[in-house]
Amino acid sequence: MAEIEREAMEYDVVIVGAGPAGLSAAIRLKQLDADLNVVVLEKGSEVGAHILSGAVLDPCGLDALIPDWKEKGAPLNVPVKDDKFYMLGEAGQVRIPNFPMPPLMHNHGNYIVSMGNVCRWMAEQAEELGVEIFPGMACSEMVYGENGEVKGVVAGVFGLEPDGSYGPNTEPGMELHGKYVFLSEGVRGSLSKEVIAKYDLSASKEPQKYGVGMKEIWEIDPAKHKEGSVTHTMGWPLGSNAGGGSFIYHLENNQVYVGFVVHLNYKNPHLYPYMEFQRFKHHPMVADLLKGGKRVAYGARAITEGGYQSMPKLVAPGVALLGCSAGMVNVPRIKGNHNAMLSGKAAAEAAYDAIKAERSGDELTVYETEVRNGAIGSDLKKVRNVKPMWSKWGLTASLMLGGLDMWTNTFGFSLFGTLGHGKNDAESTEDASKHQPIDYPKPDGTLSFDRLTNVSFAATNHEESQPCHLRLADPEIPVKVNLPKYDEPAQRYCPAGVYEVVEDESGPRFVINFQNCVHCKTCDIKDPSQNITWTTPQGGDGPNYPNM
Ligand SMILES: Cc1cc2nc3c(=O)[nH]c(=O)nc-3n(C[C@H](O)[C@H](O)[C@H](O)COP(=O)(O)OP(=O)(O)OC[C@H]3O[C@@H](n4cnc5c(N)ncnc54)[C@H](O)[C@@H]3O)c2cc1C
Repeated sequence: MAEIEREAMEYDVVIVGAGPAGLSAAIRLKQLDADLNVVVLEKGSEVGAHILSGAVLDPCGLDALIPDWKEKGAPLNVPVKDDKFYMLGEAGQVRIPNFPMPPLMHNHGNYIVSMGNVCRWMAEQAEELGVEIFPGMACSEMVYGENGEVKGVVAGVFGLEPDGSYGPNTEPGMELHGKYVFLSEGVRGSLSKEVIAKYDLSASKEPQKYGVGMKEIWEIDPAKHKEGSVTHTMGWPLGSNAGGGSFIYHLENNQVYVGFVVHLNYKNPHLYPYMEFQRFKHHPMVADLLKGGKRVAYGARAITEGGYQSMPKLVAPGVALLGCSAGMVNVPRIKGNHNAMLSGKAAAEAAYDAIKAERSGDELTVYETEVRNGAIGSDLKKVRNVKPMWSKWGLTASLMLGGLDMWTNTFGFSLFGTLGHGKNDAESTEDASKHQPIDYPKPDGTLSFDRLTNVSFAATNHEESQPCHLRLADPEIPVKVNLPKYDEPAQRYCPAGVYEVVEDESGPRFVINFQNCVHCKTCDIKDPSQNITWTTPQGGDGPNYPNM
């Protein structure tokens, strides 16, 4: 194929992804020097379209970035008033009192927000400062310089032929070059994955760990709505089948975020995370709340859970990993947005100093040091053993020992040192023959919904004539290996029903309905044969979340 010719545009800093990390970096760069040329590229049709968090926001990141955010009208309208934690059994629940919880677990001073709306507001702040933001522009390739450094990205490729070749209607996109490139793609970023592998940034780190988070927005009976109320649960329906739990956050306008996270290190390939979520809503406590209400939106996204010991090296020549591209979620708090913002700020400050010193294309080591030794490192270090304890010893032990460890870490020490995670999530999957299939009740269409109906509430859309963005390294593996060995778990772990095994006269066939994809990245993480690579489809495709 002839070399593709593309126009190139030069910037000081190129930022991939308009989430809290990328937007914070853009804002901070322009606060420091209004003359810097900064561009943010976002694959969603608009800023916020692909943003999905809980979300209870710890405002410390925003405080550091825009101290007068209140006066500037940031959409942090619902302070947390009430914070409850329950252990569920099938028919009832036990409340765990707040007093034994270490202070870091408390939610007072935090806000229930739509992170989509927070990002939309941050994008306005960035644009007022002169940042160029291009939504609908997916970054599909890295561009490397002569010395092996990251030089930029390719964005805005549209209209590829179904086989991936260039046709008469293909727009080749453009190269955006920067003195520094920030990858702020969020969890399991496709370019971040390439950069981590190319520069071996995960060497000597623990494997990254993940969960899949699913979320619905409900409008409920005003009589049951308690603005500012935060509830977390553990236990039923997952029991000992998998780690995870739920969140129920009451925001404004009688709306409630109902979400469920399943840790992806589960062993039983019959487990069906989406159906666990649907079943959860039939718990009497949850059903009482939702009865008479209606679900108005659905979405899903993986969440990083490896924490402190899994964060890769954050810099390589010309590039830095920000926010959840590097995995900065504090797992017991289920919070990563504050660290995403703080990392964006720190990366911007390091790049500003470097550019002032007329450097480019080198490693922003100051950024790495600030993340590990500053507020982010301190936040993640205190909770670093909770996830490995849960994986090794189960829920009850992790609650007790994890609680103890978080308390001692509050005072600066741990009895356990730093525990490792062991395997990655794909490797945790065991043979189907070792486990019983799980019988999930059929959704009732009122509290619980079948997967495809729910996906229609994610308003996801993909131009059908483009190549499938979910690439199989070996197309034979799903039927020849995964089906007999693991009962092809892609049929169940995908929260959007992208993967099916259909039987026809020639036998079983693996079908990928990529149009349904909500960009959660679970397949890239959990496929036991590690055969699926999530690549970015053309810009503007994917979910269109309202106020997730
Ligand atoms: C179910 C769930 C609940 C959560 N609850 C909370 C909570 O209550 N509080 C909290 O603080 N945190 C919560 N988190 C964690 C939080 O969502 C993350 O820590 C946070 O989103 C990380 O921000 P980020 O900017 O790194 O990435 P993201 O917010 O994921 O933003 C990345 C952006 O980059 C874009 N992008 C990705 N790749 C490309 C590309 N190649 N080209 C162009 N654009 C691209 C994406 O479309 C997206 O807009 C939750 C996460 C989940 C999944």
